[in-house]
Amino acid sequence: MQIIGTHMSIAKGWDKTAENVVRMGADTMQVFSRNPRGSGYRDPKDTERELFQKIRREHGFGPLLAHAPYTMNLASAQEKVYEFACTVIREDLARMDALGMENLVFHPGSHTGIGVEAGIRNIIAGLDQAVTGQEKTMVLLETMSGKGTEIGARFEELKAIRDGAAHPEKIGVCLDTCHIYSAGYDIVNDLDGVLEEFDRVLGLSLLRAVHLNDSMTPYASRKDRHAAIGKGTIGLEVLLRVMEHPALKHLPFYLETPNDDQGHADEIHMLREMLKSRKEN
Ligand code: FE
Ligand code: FE
Ligand code: ZN
Repeated sequence: MQIIGTHMSIAKGWDKTAENVVRMGADTMQVFSRNPRGSGYRDPKDTERELFQKIRREHGFGPLLAHAPYTMNLASAQEKVYEFACTVIREDLARMDALGMENLVFHPGSHTGIGVEAGIRNIIAGLDQAVTGQEKTMVLLETMSGKGTEIGARFEELKAIRDGAAHPEKIGVCLDTCHIYSAGYDIVNDLDGVLEEFDRVLGLSLLRAVHLNDSMTPYASRKDRHAAIGKGTIGLEVLLRVMEHPALKHLPFYLETPNDDQGHADEIHMLREMLKSRKEN
């Protein structure tokens, strides 16, 4: 059975958030590793942490995913921006590792004019000052839509980042269905072909997580606008095929759809019902 979670706010505490995951009928969650639009963070107190770990253990949560803040740009040539990104990825990898989070995903970054190659060099150096090689937490590169000067809309760019890193064995990939469709990978008409290309360039074994989103914008639009499941240009049928695909079905799927907790709970329920009825037929 597929592992399904959603993006959750950690504002009410790690323990309360884990309780909410259970209540929603989810098996896992994604949370921000710190304030997504600022720089602050609050680590759980001892009792909060213990309760969080207990709930997670007792309910057999699937892999937990932390998402680095949007405010960091590890590709930047601006010193202050770059130093901040280096600090965030270094601190948050250590913090998420201490919490036993299985994966930490980040947006590779935007080169803002210095070019893809120079941007990738910055990302690699930033990763190398963060990843010691001793972590249990894997760092995931997210597949991006390619808006503006975003790096990571081509599988080759993610491959170059990983290959350049001192600890490639600690670096995996998170596939975002909305982003890759916007980037020009046609999962609607040729899911197999896209996954074959991923396998050829990166290797399917590097995939650790899927962001399951529909898209508000057309194929190859290079925009990043998530839609609720079945309400966008990708559609329910294709997203179900993604979840059922032999190369993907064992992975954790995280919804990042524009919904509140109840909306996410409804989406998870709907997906499970659809998957079940398709299996029976
Ligand atoms: Fe993301
Ligand atoms: Fe995403
Ligand atoms: Zn997105």
